[in-house]
Amino acid sequence: MDHEKYMKRCYELAIRAGKKGFDTFGAVLVHDGKILEEAENTSDRSKGIFGHAEYNLVHRCAERYPDAVMKGSTLFTSCAPCERCLCAIASLGVETVVFGVSYEAFSRLTPGEASPVDREALLRKLGIRMELTGPVLEDEGMRVFEWWGGEHRPLEELIAEMAEIKAGREGMGDTSGHGAKPREAARKAERAAMSDADTIAELACELWPDHTREEMTAEYRALMTDKEAAVFLFRMEDHAAGFAQCQLRHDYVEGTSTSPVGYLEGIYVREADRGKGIARSLLQACEDWAGAQGCTEFASDCELENTESQGFHRAVGFEEANRIVAYVKKI
Ligand SMILES: [Zn+2]
Repeated sequence: MDHEKYMKRCYELAIRAGKKGFDTFGAVLVHDGKILEEAENTSDRSKGIFGHAEYNLVHRCAERYPDAVMKGSTLFTSCAPCERCLCAIASLGVETVVFGVSYEAFSRLTPGEASPVDREALLRKLGIRMELTGPVLEDEGMRVFEWWGGEHRPLEELIAEMAEIKAGREGMGDTSGHGAKPREAARKAERAAMSDADTIAELACELWPDHTREEMTAEYRALMTDKEAAVFLFRMEDHAAGFAQCQLRHDYVEGTSTSPVGYLEGIYVREADRGKGIARSLLQACEDWAGAQGCTEFASDCELENTESQGFHRAVGFEEANRIVAYVKKI
């Protein structure tokens, strides 16, 4: 069987999940050289949705195929399955599992270490036959994690960051496997206060250079007292790295069906601080705020020619609602 061909498909699915803002994992079920089913990761920790790709695949297959098909099928997965998924695969009756990235390699991206358990032997003791084969195209599979959470970051940087976390937290490892984020921004976005108005104005002038710092400071001071708006600031050790502002919109917002909706009015991260997950953290803070105001939809817009911003919107889970050209004249 052409393991590499099916593994490449798993990697495509994993990257697709990552670009939607999910964890980067994908799996396919192959029978007689044909892909029967495919699944991506849909984990949502804020809602407690497990959503691992293998688990989603198992559920997709469970009501469709008889045992005889399952027994002769091979499950391919982009990364060696966690214990919960192994149990799910075993319950389906699939006896052959091929993984891309090994437990050992994946553990370089998680706070915990790979468990040295002989899983096949353990399952055999329970009377379950399962053959775990891999790694397959492991280097390519590790690159897939560069898309974790939608914002592309080099693998080397992710590994270095996790090594640092591990060194700093010796003996306190989180061993939650796939559930652990391989990267977390060092700090979180925080709601800005009146005293931050000038700091935000400085950043805002980099984003909107047509305005003066004084104008901006005054505007942000006013915004701080507006109950229908919120500004978030992301601070590093010694400087402010970025900000985002959002507000409630009661008028019609393109593509939405509820009112009011949360609206992203602006988001900016300084060039030197990009690629660290800061924009994502700022956006999450805005969405959380809008959710707390009772909104179930969150919208945004950008210029037609701003493809960088469009890429960001897609990467963080926005779907394009419409493209419009606006006109105005003095009357
Ligand atoms: Zn799993």
